[in-house]
Amino acid sequence: YRAKEQSNNYQLYTSNMNATFYRKMKLENGLRKAMEKDQLRIVYQPQMDIRTGQINGIEALLRWQHPEMGMVSPNEFIQIVEENGQIVEIGEWVLRKVCEQNKAWQSAGYPPLKCAINLSPRQFKNKNLIETVKQILKETELDPSYLCFEITENISIHQIESVLTVLHDFKEIGLELAIDDFGKGHSALSYLKKYPIDTLKIDKCFVQGIEMDRGNASIAKAVIDMAHGLGLRVIAEGVETEDQLAFLKDLHCDSIQGYWLSRPLPPEGIESFFGDELIPFLDR
Ligand code: C2E
Ligand code: MG
Ligand code: MG
Ligand code: MG
Repeated sequence: YRAKEQSNNYQLYTSNMNATFYRKMKLENGLRKAMEKDQLRIVYQPQMDIRTGQINGIEALLRWQHPEMGMVSPNEFIQIVEENGQIVEIGEWVLRKVCEQNKAWQSAGYPPLKCAINLSPRQFKNKNLIETVKQILKETELDPSYLCFEITENISIHQIESVLTVLHDFKEIGLELAIDDFGKGHSALSYLKKYPIDTLKIDKCFVQGIEMDRGNASIAKAVIDMAHGLGLRVIAEGVETEDQLAFLKDLHCDSIQGYWLSRPLPPEGIESFFGDELIPFLDR
């Protein structure tokens, strides 16, 4: 009976594996042409200052508009383009697009809004990273203080010294720096003191159920207190409910981002957020 069960599992396993493998192959092949076929898009998710209710930033998130598969999330393809190196080219495209969009908003008379961009560890291996960033800022004439680069803590495991140099260069240009998905990776805390970062983003896995889960609540509290002790600003990611928001407010978290406020939106969707700067949630 054991043999039979095993062989069934095996069949199930191989067919799942084939489907996954086939999808991955399809993604890999499609990605090579995604840029030249103009299939990449950027959506923006607003962030809000909890104390004032003011929108105080946005995050740029990549999307792949696939002709058959629809909108593909970066969770499915970032790893692929990191492995094949394409992320360098894509990352450059994202940066240019974001700078152009931000500049266009300012030229249209909207109040300045800082935009966060995700950088992957692979981009730091590119020797030209700093030069490319400087070049794009120059071309697009964007004030660097309107940009924030998000890196994950994984980056600190390898390449410590070279990363540190690049981060200091970024600060010198006038860019803001944030640690993304804080608490999700495995790394020592010492880098928080060593890296010239401004902001810490608490990963959404600690925000989920924060009102009920004592463990997550303690972690969030400890992270917020520690970050403040280090002079860092804290953004909670993945805030989906008003209860979570209220809880984070009690913990003196600075800002939030998540479906409660808004899903990531195309540029036109963000424009309505410039109009009403104050979200009237504080009065409710
Ligand atoms: P991230 O930087 O941590 O971005 C936050 C992710 O959480 C986004 O997923 C966002 O859509 C999602 N999210 C926002 N609010 C909520 C919420 O209330 N609940 C839940 N469950 N999720 C929420 P997305 O857009 O699928 O991106 C996934 C990851 O892909 C990003 O995580 C980031 O690490 C990476 N990524 C996205 N765009 C880029 C990019 O341009 N370059 C690089 N290197 N990585 C990117
Ligand atoms: Mg991010
Ligand atoms: Mg994150
Ligand atoms: Mg992430």
